[in-house]
Amino acid sequence: MAGTPVTVADGVHAYVQEPGGWCVNNAGIVVGEEAVLVVDTAATEKRALALRRAVDGLAGGRRRILVSTHHHGDHTFGNHVFTGRGTLLISHEAGPAELVRKGTALQSMWPHVDWGDTPTVLPALTVRGGATLNLGGTVAELIHPGVAHTSDDLAVWLPEQRVLFAGDLVFSGAAPFVLMGSLAGSLAALARLRALDPLVVVGGHGPVGGPELIASTEEYLRWTAALAERGLADGLDPLRTALRADEGVFAALLDRERLVGNLHRAFHEAAGGVPGARIESAPAMREMVVFNGGRPLHCAA
Ligand SMILES: [Zn+2]
Repeated sequence: MAGTPVTVADGVHAYVQEPGGWCVNNAGIVVGEEAVLVVDTAATEKRALALRRAVDGLAGGRRRILVSTHHHGDHTFGNHVFTGRGTLLISHEAGPAELVRKGTALQSMWPHVDWGDTPTVLPALTVRGGATLNLGGTVAELIHPGVAHTSDDLAVWLPEQRVLFAGDLVFSGAAPFVLMGSLAGSLAALARLRALDPLVVVGGHGPVGGPELIASTEEYLRWTAALAERGLADGLDPLRTALRADEGVFAALLDRERLVGNLHRAFHEAAGGVPGARIESAPAMREMVVFNGGRPLHCAA
């Protein structure tokens, strides 16, 4: 149930939960002299409590700041485990409305999971374009790259250590997911993250890596955009386009059925749709099950 802290620089730890995939996310722990920054929590109360123990073990007694990379429940359901003990919670300004709108709806997709108590906690502070946090000897920059994975993405960049906590802007070993954000916006965001020239990249799910994780996410999204163009030209819908796709290397990704949702977003944008405009997610999720040959989406939370 617990994740593994992976030290990626002095005082900087990726909190990696295996095996990744639906609702099994990564977090981050950045220990400054004055404060500790926690990047995201976890999907279930038990997993969030395990993360809290890891934070206390690495940085007991320090003031805590928690940043949400976006509102999705797998990254935020455990927030109350921290905020109940005086932690400052920060998100992008579009985050609170999304937290309220979605609540715990995601949990109904996987009723067998022991979610525990997961009340919605609203951030005490929201930021627009970005912000800089001084943790005491360590600086963390919060960057909003526009609508990408969602409308409220925040990447966390440590310029001195050149470590990037990318949230779900980057997936490692799992299929990216842009149904609720923007495919074009994701590519623009990834170009911006690449320009930071990070040494270490911690994606929202999957193993820690380097800039090659940004490149592989870009490659997947460009492939998806090209599939959408061909599907549209042939008069297909997103599901049929996905079913006939030659997935090549992408067939090995966890949660590969996300292709269907990604194609819904790509079709929407190819037709002139606005990035981040709402696409009903339930029908796309049902089509992902069809793509999977009828198997329900697998969640190991
Ligand atoms: Zn997400």
